[in-house]
Amino acid sequence: MAVAIYPGSFDPITNGHLSIVRNGLVAFERIIIAVLNHPTKSPLLSVAERIALIEASLPNGGANIEVDTFDGLLVDYARKRGVRVVLRGLRAVADFEYELQMANVNRHLNESVETVFIMAQDAYFYVSSNVVKEAARLGGDISKLVPPVVGVKLKEVYPR
Ligand code: ADP
Repeated sequence: MAVAIYPGSFDPITNGHLSIVRNGLVAFERIIIAVLNHPTKSPLLSVAERIALIEASLPNGGANIEVDTFDGLLVDYARKRGVRVVLRGLRAVADFEYELQMANVNRHLNESVETVFIMAQDAYFYVSSNVVKEAARLGGDISKLVPPVVGVKLKEVYPR
């Protein structure tokens, strides 16, 4: 079975992330969305909150998608799960250098894990969790950039 791990912070999930999942399911039979539990990053939302928002936003009621969390090295998590493909999204040129670096480091750490990229959709090319949070904090309309549950959550976090 062709399975890929889609790792990230998802703080919070955006329509850009969801488009990668949807398009990823064209290439893979199953996708494991793996939420990074990073002790030194200070996320806006807890891992439990991020997972709940992802689960409430999945296309097709979440068929063929699993949501999980990991800490430590991604390649160790992939080995533990018996998965050999990492799925990442590519947006603006700025993503490229970072993603190239990560893919090569991961390949160096575990040669049997390969990273596959899916290009961002035009509509979400500039959408990032950070941009969405900043816009929500300042009272901007982010309804076209995130699933409805995320919009509601960010209104709670940033009441105006
Ligand atoms: P990280 O904190 O590891 O950068 P993110 O949660 O920001 O993780 O993103 C996870 C993956 O999803 C990354 O490969 C990122 O490039 C991709 N991604 C994020 N936003 C978009 C988007 N709007 N369109 C396509 N890919 C995206």
